[in-house]
Amino acid sequence: MSQCPNCGAALEPNQLRCNKCGSPVQVVAPAPNAGPVQGAPVDLVHPTNPPKSATTALILSCLISGVGQIYLGQTIKGIVILIGSLVLWGTIVGGPVIWIVAMVDAHAIGNKLASGKSVGQWEFF
Ligand SMILES: [Zn+2]
Repeated sequence: MSQCPNCGAALEPNQLRCNKCGSPVQVVAPAPNAGPVQGAPVDLVHPTNPPKSATTALILSCLISGVGQIYLGQTIKGIVILIGSLVLWGTIVGGPVIWIVAMVDAHAIGNKLASGKSVGQWEFF
Protein backbone atom coordinates (compact mmCIF):
# COMPACT_ATOMS: atom_id res chain seq x y z
CA MET A 1 0.00 0.00 0.00
CA SER A 2 1.41 3.37 -1.01
CA GLN A 3 1.02 6.71 0.71
CA CYS A 4 0.53 10.23 -0.57
CA PRO A 5 3.94 11.96 -0.50
CA ASN A 6 2.23 15.24 0.42
CA CYS A 7 -0.15 14.38 3.29
CA GLY A 8 0.52 10.72 3.99
CA ALA A 9 -2.99 9.48 3.22
CA ALA A 10 -3.32 5.89 2.10
CA LEU A 11 -3.70 5.52 -1.69
CA GLU A 12 -5.42 2.98 -3.86
CA PRO A 13 -3.06 1.18 -6.26
CA ASN A 14 -4.21 2.97 -9.43
CA GLN A 15 -5.04 6.38 -7.95
CA LEU A 16 -3.75 9.37 -9.91
CA ARG A 17 -4.55 12.04 -7.32
CA CYS A 18 -4.72 11.97 -3.56
CA ASN A 19 -8.34 11.97 -2.33
CA LYS A 20 -7.42 14.01 0.72
CA CYS A 21 -5.17 16.80 -0.54
CA GLY A 22 -5.55 16.47 -4.32
CA SER A 23 -1.84 16.37 -5.07
CA PRO A 24 -0.82 14.27 -8.07
CA VAL A 25 0.52 10.87 -7.21
CA GLN A 26 3.07 8.91 -9.14
CA VAL A 27 1.48 5.65 -10.15
CA VAL A 28 3.76 2.73 -9.46
CA ALA A 29 2.04 0.13 -11.57
CA PRO A 30 3.82 -3.20 -11.71
CA ALA A 31 5.35 -4.03 -15.07
CA PRO A 32 3.22 -6.50 -17.01
CA ASN A 33 6.02 -9.04 -17.22
CA ALA A 34 7.62 -8.43 -13.85
CA GLY A 35 9.20 -11.61 -12.61
CA PRO A 36 12.32 -13.69 -12.94
CA VAL A 37 12.58 -12.93 -16.67
CA GLN A 38 15.11 -10.17 -15.94
CA GLY A 39 18.61 -10.52 -17.33
CA ALA A 40 19.85 -13.17 -19.71
CA PRO A 41 17.16 -15.77 -20.31
CA VAL A 42 18.23 -19.23 -19.27
CA ASP A 43 17.44 -21.81 -21.92
CA LEU A 44 15.34 -24.34 -20.07
CA VAL A 45 13.78 -27.65 -20.91
CA HIS A 46 10.32 -27.74 -19.36
CA PRO A 47 8.45 -30.81 -18.21
CA THR A 48 5.97 -32.17 -20.71
CA ASN A 49 2.47 -33.45 -20.03
CA PRO A 50 2.37 -36.43 -20.07
CA PRO A 51 5.97 -36.52 -18.82
CA LYS A 52 8.64 -38.20 -20.88
CA SER A 53 9.83 -41.49 -19.44
CA ALA A 54 13.16 -41.59 -17.64
CA THR A 55 13.30 -45.30 -18.44
CA THR A 56 12.88 -44.61 -22.16
CA ALA A 57 15.65 -41.99 -21.93
CA LEU A 58 17.86 -44.57 -20.20
CA ILE A 59 17.18 -47.24 -22.84
CA LEU A 60 17.79 -44.80 -25.70
CA SER A 61 21.06 -43.71 -24.10
CA CYS A 62 21.98 -47.36 -23.65
CA LEU A 63 21.54 -47.94 -27.40
CA ILE A 64 23.18 -44.69 -28.58
CA SER A 65 24.83 -42.22 -26.19
CA GLY A 66 23.16 -38.81 -26.31
CA VAL A 67 19.87 -39.94 -27.88
CA GLY A 68 18.24 -40.12 -24.44
CA GLN A 69 19.12 -36.46 -23.89
CA ILE A 70 17.77 -35.53 -27.34
CA TYR A 71 14.56 -37.40 -26.52
CA LEU A 72 14.22 -35.41 -23.27
CA GLY A 73 14.71 -32.09 -25.08
CA GLN A 74 18.39 -31.40 -24.37
CA THR A 75 19.02 -31.47 -28.10
CA ILE A 76 22.38 -29.74 -28.39
CA LYS A 77 23.76 -31.48 -25.33
CA GLY A 78 22.64 -34.82 -26.75
CA ILE A 79 24.31 -34.16 -30.09
CA VAL A 80 27.52 -33.14 -28.33
CA ILE A 81 27.43 -36.33 -26.22
CA LEU A 82 26.76 -38.39 -29.36
CA ILE A 83 29.69 -36.88 -31.26
CA GLY A 84 31.86 -36.94 -28.13
CA SER A 85 31.16 -40.61 -27.59
CA LEU A 86 32.13 -41.44 -31.17
CA VAL A 87 35.46 -39.71 -30.57
CA LEU A 88 35.94 -41.25 -27.13
CA TRP A 89 35.18 -44.81 -28.29
CA GLY A 90 38.36 -44.43 -30.32
CA THR A 91 40.27 -44.09 -27.07
CA ILE A 92 38.86 -47.46 -25.86
CA VAL A 93 38.76 -46.33 -22.20
CA GLY A 94 36.73 -43.16 -22.81
CA GLY A 95 33.95 -44.93 -24.68
CA PRO A 96 32.52 -47.00 -21.82
CA VAL A 97 32.92 -44.04 -19.44
CA ILE A 98 30.87 -41.60 -21.52
CA TRP A 99 28.40 -44.41 -22.33
CA ILE A 100 27.67 -45.03 -18.64
CA VAL A 101 27.74 -41.33 -17.71
CA ALA A 102 25.30 -40.52 -20.53
CA MET A 103 22.94 -43.30 -19.41
CA VAL A 104 22.95 -42.23 -15.75
CA ASP A 105 22.55 -38.60 -16.84
CA ALA A 106 19.59 -39.33 -19.16
CA HIS A 107 17.85 -41.23 -16.37
CA ALA A 108 18.48 -38.47 -13.79
CA ILE A 109 17.36 -35.66 -16.12
CA GLY A 110 14.30 -37.74 -17.08
CA ASN A 111 13.41 -38.13 -13.42
CA LYS A 112 13.78 -34.37 -12.81
CA LEU A 113 11.44 -33.58 -15.71
CA ALA A 114 9.00 -36.29 -14.61
CA SER A 115 8.85 -34.73 -11.14
CA GLY A 116 7.82 -31.42 -12.70
CA LYS A 117 11.17 -29.59 -12.57
CA SER A 118 12.60 -27.61 -15.46
CA VAL A 119 16.21 -28.33 -16.35
CA GLY A 120 18.83 -26.27 -18.13
CA GLN A 121 19.81 -27.20 -21.66
CA TRP A 122 23.24 -28.13 -20.30
CA GLU A 123 22.22 -29.41 -16.90
CA PHE A 124 23.70 -32.76 -15.91
CA PHE A 125 22.25 -35.27 -13.46
ZN1 LIG B 1 -2.47 13.81 -0.05
